[in-house]
Amino acid sequence: MYCLQSQRNGLTGHLESISAWLSKTDNAWLQPDGKGKWGWEELPYWLKGYANIGYMLHDDSMITEAKWWIENVLHNQRSNGDFGPMQLKNGKRDVWNNMPMLWVLQSYYEYSNDARVLQFMTNYFKWELSVPDEDFLEDYWENSRGGDNLYSVYWLYNHTGESWLLQLAEKLHRNTANWRQKDNLPNWHNVNIAESFREPAQYYLLSRDKTDLDATYNDFKLVRNLYGQVPGGMFGADENARKGYDDPRQGVETCGMVEQMTSDQMLLASTGDPFWADNCEDVAFNTFPAAFMPDYRSLRYLTAPNMINSDGKNHSPGIANEGPFLMMNPFSNRCCQHNHSAGWVYYAENSWMATPDNGLAAQLYTAGSVTAKVGDGAQVQLVTDTHYPFDEIIHITVKTAKAVSFPLYLRIPSWSEFHNDADVLVNGKKVPVVPRAAAYVKLNGIWHNGDQIELRLPMRVQLREWPRNKNSVSVQYGPLTFSLKIKEQYVQKDSRAYVQGDSKWQESADTKAWPAYEIYPASPWNYGLLADRSKLNSLFTVKKKAWPKDNDPFTINTVPIEIEASGKQIPSWTIDQYGLCSVLPQSPVQVEGPFVKLTLVPMGAARVRISAFPQVR
Ligand SMILES: [Zn+2]
Repeated sequence: MYCLQSQRNGLTGHLESISAWLSKTDNAWLQPDGKGKWGWEELPYWLKGYANIGYMLHDDSMITEAKWWIENVLHNQRSNGDFGPMQLKNGKRDVWNNMPMLWVLQSYYEYSNDARVLQFMTNYFKWELSVPDEDFLEDYWENSRGGDNLYSVYWLYNHTGESWLLQLAEKLHRNTANWRQKDNLPNWHNVNIAESFREPAQYYLLSRDKTDLDATYNDFKLVRNLYGQVPGGMFGADENARKGYDDPRQGVETCGMVEQMTSDQMLLASTGDPFWADNCEDVAFNTFPAAFMPDYRSLRYLTAPNMINSDGKNHSPGIANEGPFLMMNPFSNRCCQHNHSAGWVYYAENSWMATPDNGLAAQLYTAGSVTAKVGDGAQVQLVTDTHYPFDEIIHITVKTAKAVSFPLYLRIPSWSEFHNDADVLVNGKKVPVVPRAAAYVKLNGIWHNGDQIELRLPMRVQLREWPRNKNSVSVQYGPLTFSLKIKEQYVQKDSRAYVQGDSKWQESADTKAWPAYEIYPASPWNYGLLADRSKLNSLFTVKKKAWPKDNDPFTINTVPIEIEASGKQIPSWTIDQYGLCSVLPQSPVQVEGPFVKLTLVPMGAARVRISAFPQVR
């Protein structure tokens, strides 16, 4: 919840006052004919997170602001059913930017039950069904991302049950890029991959052809095998994944992280496979938080597992992008600047899910509460209290007006397989089940008001080895990966001087209130680790510290857990001609001299970081 509050106080909560893309004058999103300026993905990217944070925090002013935009979108639907900015590509209507706006409307409906949304989407989908195939989803982005549109069509079908919507679903699949190829993808753009690899599994819900479902798993594995031999749950694809650029110094775009987490949540919901929750945690805890300054007032376009500076220089071709893509800037970059808003709020929304047997599943552990109808229709509230992943215990309290019977599922993360000693207690008594990793514990029972459920997930240090990335190693503690604690030196910069691409300020914006930052390492970073699997207990010491007063565990000076380790500096591992840490040396590395004590911090808190270490002897 602290992340949502930080976002409200940060860029997400104030973006309207500084980004011209959210301008209320001459904005194509506000015109019935869809003509005008600023008519692209930025408004819905921002609104899908901003509005939902408002709903979740019960923030009237955010809800009112979001509603203003939503009312305009609803009001400006054209008579043929089409809506939004009139984007034409080669004379054909490009519908990409409408896809995230449909998600905004779905969330708004789930919050408000405003029936106009169902009629609006019905009208729009009838129009989409009327567009000839040869004019439909022809441009690059919409063609890659048809799965986003498919998601909305299923959503409406689940509300109205009108069978013609399934014809549109078939049409969307038919005209979307082919994400079902063996050993290849339609394109290698990082965000497209994270967003679109799920399309075959989405279509599987209609086709029931197992090869569709398998295609999504295969895409995931293909990308991880080639570019994801790194900690943090993502893959090195700066802009586009490039052959030969698979070292942990390659980054991923912040939009890519948000879309990966969103895809994981959708796949978790449709397959029930906790594999997707594991990946979602990995990205959310280890990669996503480091993309932002701790106050969520600026962010960077690219974040990598091994990243020893975060400056405003050009690092191409070491990374794919030319320009200041590593610095923290409120204007980094036009897409991520708006699209980052949904990352944490979607995570929270997907923390609980309904199950087919009228129960509830705890999917992503986070403090908060869910109110739901269960069993024969009784309403219950479940309140979760935890600092997971910085805490091994998750407490859930049942609140109900009367005794109620329903199954309750608790997800056991895959990382617990290493020691297999997870436990579940109900009202202080151990439940006689053996929790299995990467599966669910099912608690059948009659629940009473005040019942207490306690899930214990003991964490221990484990190593992950990356034989295909020079035999490097990363340190795990539960779902957290740990990075070298590097002293961070922050240098404030004029963000306007580093505006990237088509990012645009509102003319009235106070640029001094929204500075950019470079971050440099103020202590050595080129250490290798002594990593002997048989001596984990003696080589690594876990130090638990007080929970941070400001509730932010993702800042190096206030992290609640540190790990002491041993290593040696590797003098030959230096900064290369592109200003990046050079590619990992092959492990093991022989280095003279004694071992020194190293401090490791959670990877999500390290904004300059080494997370995949060479092994030293
Ligand atoms: Zn982006």
